[in-house]
Amino acid sequence: MKGGGEKAGLIIAVDGPSGAGKSTITKALADRLGYVHIDTGAMFRAVALTALRAGVDGSDDEGLARLCASLEIAFARTNGCCRVMANGEDVTDAIRTPEISLLTSTISARKVVRDFLLEVQRRMGRAGGVILEGRDIGTVVFPDADVKFFLTASVEERGRRRWLELAARGEQLTLAETIAAVARRDEQDSGREHAPLRRAADAVDVDSTGLSIDEVLDRMETIVREKERLLAMARQ
Ligand code: C5P
Repeated sequence: MKGGGEKAGLIIAVDGPSGAGKSTITKALADRLGYVHIDTGAMFRAVALTALRAGVDGSDDEGLARLCASLEIAFARTNGCCRVMANGEDVTDAIRTPEISLLTSTISARKVVRDFLLEVQRRMGRAGGVILEGRDIGTVVFPDADVKFFLTASVEERGRRRWLELAARGEQLTLAETIAAVARRDEQDSGREHAPLRRAADAVDVDSTGLSIDEVLDRMETIVREKERLLAMARQ
């Protein structure tokens, strides 16, 4: 779990609330650095979708434990883009509905689900050369990550971005409803008992409100490159 060392590259943690631009930013940063991108939110979403389909209630810990025990989550690259696979099925689009977003927020509060995904995430990330995005990467999953970012934006800005995304997919929600849904998820994610959304004390804050994607990326890349340089020097 320790950062630095002889790994293929650094372990980079990017945490923050929903709609802060984490996915776009971490994917693009991974491309710039030649790192593997791990979207942990997609993993929680895959569990939620599988539970919904199997008729397992979000509060049924035994049912969720059984479901997790037989669930294999993987990321596949097709035409340069990351697909999310659950037991071999491509669920990339099915996990992005508002219904799954809300259910994910509920099941991600269950310890049994968090424990299961914690192990999967550590296994996927420990070799290094990875960027993991989520809510508790820098605090729980990789507390010794080499670089930690806390990416945020105002709730209005995050709601507006999510609304544009949903509208492009033909979802019929108003802007006000979308902002309210983002605020509700913030509350659920911050208020839960297990691994609540929390900024790591040693995280670098990046507020993307009013910044272009490239401006955010440049800032983050500079910090990562500097850390890579320092660690390379320390190894000599
Ligand atoms: O990032 P995304 O919006 O896809 O995450 C979906 C949900 O998964 C979040 O609202 C949160 O409840 C949960 N999540 C989490 N821990 C993570 C990543 C996501 O609890 N590391």
